[in-house]
Amino acid sequence: MRVVMVGAECAPFAKVGGLGDFIQGLARALAATGVEVQVLLPYYRGLLPEPFVSRLEPLDVAVSIPLDGAALECTCWRLRAEGLDCVLIDPAGDWFRRPHVYGEPDDGLRFALFARAADALLRRPGWRPDIIHCHDWQSAQLPALQWAVTDAGEPPVRVCLTLHNLAHQGLIEPAVLARLGVDVGTLLGPGPLDDPAAPGRANLLRGAIHCADFVNTVSPRYAWEVLHTGQGMGLQGVLQAHVDKFGGILNGIDDALWDPRTDPLIPVHYGPDSLSLKARNGEALRRRLGLRARAAPILAVVSRLDAQKGVELILGGIDSALALGCQVVLLGAAPDAAVAARFAAKREALADCPDAHLELAFDEGLAHLIYAGADMILVPSRYEPCGLTQLIAMRYGTVPLVRRVGGLADTVVDANHSDRPVGERNGYLFEAQTTEAVHAVLGRAAWLWRHHPDHFDRLRDNGMRADHGWRRPAARYLDLYRGLLGA
Ligand code: ADP
Repeated sequence: MRVVMVGAECAPFAKVGGLGDFIQGLARALAATGVEVQVLLPYYRGLLPEPFVSRLEPLDVAVSIPLDGAALECTCWRLRAEGLDCVLIDPAGDWFRRPHVYGEPDDGLRFALFARAADALLRRPGWRPDIIHCHDWQSAQLPALQWAVTDAGEPPVRVCLTLHNLAHQGLIEPAVLARLGVDVGTLLGPGPLDDPAAPGRANLLRGAIHCADFVNTVSPRYAWEVLHTGQGMGLQGVLQAHVDKFGGILNGIDDALWDPRTDPLIPVHYGPDSLSLKARNGEALRRRLGLRARAAPILAVVSRLDAQKGVELILGGIDSALALGCQVVLLGAAPDAAVAARFAAKREALADCPDAHLELAFDEGLAHLIYAGADMILVPSRYEPCGLTQLIAMRYGTVPLVRRVGGLADTVVDANHSDRPVGERNGYLFEAQTTEAVHAVLGRAAWLWRHHPDHFDRLRDNGMRADHGWRRPAARYLDLYRGLLGA
């Protein structure tokens, strides 16, 4: 079986958040079962880490797509590294020679162009896969293109779409698609890309939900929430209409890469059988970030800082944690200037505090040290399709404190308020989106850390021993692909 993943991120080549981990983890896990997997990404010139640039092999396949009535040539590069087989699409011009993966004013056109080129490549002789697996809006034009144009004499390729975040849907002007030579008349007015909430514009994600052979989100609970609560972000109608091809598959983490027994980015290795060594990573974390040495639990936040992640609750949580005698480390990057300013002001206010450090950046190495050194992690998301930080934290014996929503609710079992056996309890849940609720949950966790460290270690141990690897989810995706192929 040949599967091609098409998306905007794949760690360690391009990562902004969980999408990068997901494509990396699923592709590696499927390859380990013998599936032929390839990942299609844009070639982000200037962002691809240097050691990988020298490993690029030019591919002898020219892809040309229409742009404004002329032909835009796209070079393709192969990158085989880290157990992954990637093809990087490199359109002539500065489309992907930018300082960031996302956030450019012409993102709509940039990624429409990427998806159009991916579609053209996958129709070339010898490149046709059995399954095209698309991710989020950046590749969401592909299912519509495959739906609209079938290649004569070829069986249709089966197309899956995974929804990692419904907040970003790829709303673009039909003129953008027309510039790329797309037959807009087939797709819009009326057509699958029509969005009743945005008349006259094309909604790529909506179109992909309509046209894909299967659609899933990344946890069963989020799948239910987008259908039945206010979380559908305008897509609940189209999802309900296609409920017979819709589901939720819980994400995994790559437990070979996220492993405190072997992680090259942490100073002291440890595992469930040597948990006492974890404290030495806490000492290293304090030294690195200038926190004073103290017998206090370290609360961590590792997050993109945007509205989804619960900005107010993170800021309130920092104050609560300090008031409860904890130490706090935050690692986060805020793409939005107003949110960035709020965290910068907080960092300023805490500049002389010996118990807090806010690092406003994206830093993979520091993230690993924080997972290893912290005692608890706070994830107070407003909504959370799956969430990986709580899973990674558990693997490192760091206890998650999370809102009972989406994938957080599917993966965290409350230490006190659960009907599940003690051996399955691994963290703390809270419900309300209030600073009081965050304060209460922090109080429960800090109390246990201080007064019953053996019970707290039990929570760590349960989290570390649970299987959150990719094997199980990869087997479910494989079943899904087989089902679509009638195999
Ligand atoms: P999302 O995809 O919504 O950002 P997830 O919890 O699914 O959230 O995935 C977040 C991923 O990004 C994790 O691997 C986490 O460690 C990483 N991450 C988030 N913020 C940072 C940061 N500032 N520096 C390094 N890694 C980060």
